[in-house]
Amino acid sequence: MDNLTNLTIEEIHGALAKREASAEEIARAHIDRIRTDDPRVRSYLSTCEEKALEQARAVDRQIAAGEPLRPLSGVPVAVKDVILTRGLRTTCASKILENYMAPYDATAVQRLESAGAVILGKTNCDEFAMGSSTENSGFYPTHNPHDLTRVPGGSSGGSAAAVAANLATVSLGSDTGGSIRQPAAFCGVVGMMGTYGRVSRYGLVAFASSLDHIGPFGRSVRDVARTMKVIAGRDALDSTSADISVDDYEKSLDGNVRGVKVGVPNEYFEGLNPDIRANVEKGIKLLEKLGCKIVPIRLPHTEYAIGCYYIICTAEASSNLARYDGVRYGFRAAEFSGLRDMYRKTRDQGFGPEVKRRIMLGTYVLSSGYYDAYYLKAQKVRTLIARDFVEAFDDVDVIVTPTSPIPPFKLNEKLDDPLQMYLADIYTVTASLAGIPGISVPCGKLPGEPPLPVGMQIFARYFDESRLLQVADAFEKAGGFSVS
Ligand code: GLN
Repeated sequence: MDNLTNLTIEEIHGALAKREASAEEIARAHIDRIRTDDPRVRSYLSTCEEKALEQARAVDRQIAAGEPLRPLSGVPVAVKDVILTRGLRTTCASKILENYMAPYDATAVQRLESAGAVILGKTNCDEFAMGSSTENSGFYPTHNPHDLTRVPGGSSGGSAAAVAANLATVSLGSDTGGSIRQPAAFCGVVGMMGTYGRVSRYGLVAFASSLDHIGPFGRSVRDVARTMKVIAGRDALDSTSADISVDDYEKSLDGNVRGVKVGVPNEYFEGLNPDIRANVEKGIKLLEKLGCKIVPIRLPHTEYAIGCYYIICTAEASSNLARYDGVRYGFRAAEFSGLRDMYRKTRDQGFGPEVKRRIMLGTYVLSSGYYDAYYLKAQKVRTLIARDFVEAFDDVDVIVTPTSPIPPFKLNEKLDDPLQMYLADIYTVTASLAGIPGISVPCGKLPGEPPLPVGMQIFARYFDESRLLQVADAFEKAGGFSVS
């Protein structure tokens, strides 16, 4: 086979079963491609070539011994560097964890490996997953493979770009307020966040624990469905993981969405880039052609979501990041006088500007006198936003929106304006606050040279990932990825 880096999981398994390629050859093809192409894209922070080849050879031995393929046998995978991997550095793209080696694997990583996946390396992201462009990485920014002068989105920009550039078949990202869905949209790939509690957070470095998720990226809905199935499900090591059985997601990919009720919220179609709007409207027309019933709906508290999200996530971050004190993990300032000075200098030198901004904001909204005015109020608004969705789902099965109001922007364009960067999350933070599942699928390209991808977002009821994937897959099968 001439190209081993653009295959779907099914194609990889077809090639392995027919002995047209070995897992080792597939892994090597990816390693070679990372060597030649990643210096431009910069999607990886570190690679583990030897380990990947060993894992691949183990798969080849199992095939030779006549063992059946497991769900991800021989599939090259990249993992966002906020997810712990034993024996492989986990930096969270932060100087403060520059040389941190986790003593254990995240449950999602352990499940990938048990399913036969070949882990290629760790991907770049915004520091501690705080950002929307991957420019807040403490090491270097990632570039959008469709236009290297633009950002890949964030915070899981490396995981999205790696899959888009054929530097991995699927990848893991994390999503707290859009960090899987928005980079998926910017890079023209599929990215999914399950219901809160669907995937174990054990081994995901905490940013905002009540909002954090691990989820997959892929170039097809089926690849994402397969990967989601592998990582989902109850885990005794995460008390917030749900004890609800995981459907066989691939079974729901039947292409038949006749009669499915699709809600379209007015609030998500105002004040956005007109070309993005036009593409998503065409996407909705296509769903209608497939037999879906399009229903206009209201989600009236949408306008409060950004304010609410940035209070809650910073409050939780200020608490979660207190642990980086120069004693327990990684980096410690070289010179200091006394303990307090050591804490201060370590944190001052170890954290980047966005992380500091969030710790300060979060400490402020939790401080006495402001707690009720900001944090408590935000918690109440969160309930109202969740209620909007619950009420909407009385009438519809899924909700369709644009993923991002803006196209991939130029590197450095928004770096000096954090508020502009925060506003880019306007369509993704709502589902995060409500805890419902969401997916972003490619929905055509913008006019212009080079053509930039557009993402369409789909939400579903709590734990109705099957429905979400079914609609996304039907859209893909009908040619929706290239509608425009
Ligand atoms: N862009 C959002 C933020 O900066 C979301 C990040 C995320 O989902 N991790 O907080």
